[in-house]
Amino acid sequence: MVVAIDGPSGSGKSSVSRGVASALGLAYLDTGAMYRAATWWCLDRGVPLTDVDAVAAQVRALPLVMGTDPANPTVHVGGVDVGQAIRETAISSAVSAVATNLEVRAELGRLQRAAIDEARTRAGIVAEGRDITTVVAPDADVRVLLTASEDARLARRARDVHGSDDAAAVEATRDQVLRRDADDSTVVQFHEAADGVVTVDSSHLDFDQTVQAVLDVVESVVGPRP
Ligand code: C5P
Repeated sequence: MVVAIDGPSGSGKSSVSRGVASALGLAYLDTGAMYRAATWWCLDRGVPLTDVDAVAAQVRALPLVMGTDPANPTVHVGGVDVGQAIRETAISSAVSAVATNLEVRAELGRLQRAAIDEARTRAGIVAEGRDITTVVAPDADVRVLLTASEDARLARRARDVHGSDDAAAVEATRDQVLRRDADDSTVVQFHEAADGVVTVDSSHLDFDQTVQAVLDVVESVVGPRP
């Protein structure tokens, strides 16, 4: 089974996708982490992100290994564990410059499809990102758009990054959520569900309720689990 989940920043899609994958015994692919790893690699090698051709060439040679266990997803580049480094603000601020490079999207999309096809030969996978339901795996068995109101997304990301959702923390998070989504929206559409994609609005749901809502969608599409 392939479950594709897209959504904007702060929609909770990473943690919810991991929860869904664990509940269903599926692998888990965080495609945002792949764009982050590509950004880390280019910056580490001193490539200006504005140099579209140089960035594309670096990404074609990206020695990326994604660990897809939902209990312990990992990201290694050239044997280096970059799981922590790719969550730094410097990467979050820069990643859209890499993700809006169309050659990079073609290359990472190819790697994502290969990972999904490989998982199809086993139990299956939950793959999450911005264009999984529409571009990478439009043929997925289940396709979900996970949304939340802007206020809910800002507060969530502020709690994740700053440990608080007071006014200052929310303000400091604005660039990471709204500017990044605006930049990303120039190349991918993840604010409205495409045909056949089911929307789950998590604005008023806690984590467990959101996982359950997605599991309900899975069940409604593929039937009850044995
Ligand atoms: O989900 P996350 O915030 O980790 O994604 C990081 C960035 O990766 C996004 O801001 C976007 O630029 C890019 N991305 C993308 N397409 C995907 C997944 C992520 O462009 N399928």
